[in-house]
Amino acid sequence: MVIALTKGRIIDEVLPLFEQAGIVPSEDIQNSRKLIFPTNLDNVQLMVIRGSDVPTYVEFGSADMGVVGKDLILEYGGEGFYEPLDLKLARCQLMTAEPVGVVSNSSQQSKSRLRIASKFVNIAKRYFAEQGTQVEIIKLNGALELAPSMGLADVIVDIVDTGKTLKANGLEPRELIAEVSSRVIVNKASLKIKNRAIREILGKLKSAVDGNENL
Ligand code: AMP
Repeated sequence: MVIALTKGRIIDEVLPLFEQAGIVPSEDIQNSRKLIFPTNLDNVQLMVIRGSDVPTYVEFGSADMGVVGKDLILEYGGEGFYEPLDLKLARCQLMTAEPVGVVSNSSQQSKSRLRIASKFVNIAKRYFAEQGTQVEIIKLNGALELAPSMGLADVIVDIVDTGKTLKANGLEPRELIAEVSSRVIVNKASLKIKNRAIREILGKLKSAVDGNENL
């Protein structure tokens, strides 16, 4: 069984939960350049990859399970996996944001199409289509917060945690698009073929999540 984990700071929160669930990597993942790791369990290996690649590996069954943020699941939008468990880690919100004090662009049916800058182009497209707002989506890979002041976009769609990044760039959160946290996803075929092993891991992870919540 292969479990794909999201590399980066989220792994610092995910590994202790896996340890509580009885899955411990045999090597120090954080200080290694390897991408796949054996664990104390003969039948479980951990892969450590970019979050945006986790849904792809799980959808195609190269990984049986994965841990990834709800933002990346929504952006990927695949059908090839289930999302059976919320690990309740790395919580944040996907929001629209606009310059402080500006009358909401998104509620104005203004002269020209609104320009929206985001890493999450599929989410942004879907959200504004549901609102019935005509928009032009501009894909950026980082530093979204600059886009409004540089005249590139009217609105951004981004992850907000404390809101400090927005504030430091003269922006404020406006509309909530989705609550985000780390989720476990499972390949549909793997769940059938490796049902017992996967259910056992999910059960242990759920107990660990519930135990932490009751602390
Ligand atoms: P903040 O200034 O606390 O609102 O953090 C916002 C920035 O941190 C965003 O632009 C994100 O890139 C990043 N960030 C915060 N929390 C998360 C998370 N749970 N997952 C991914 N990125 C995050």
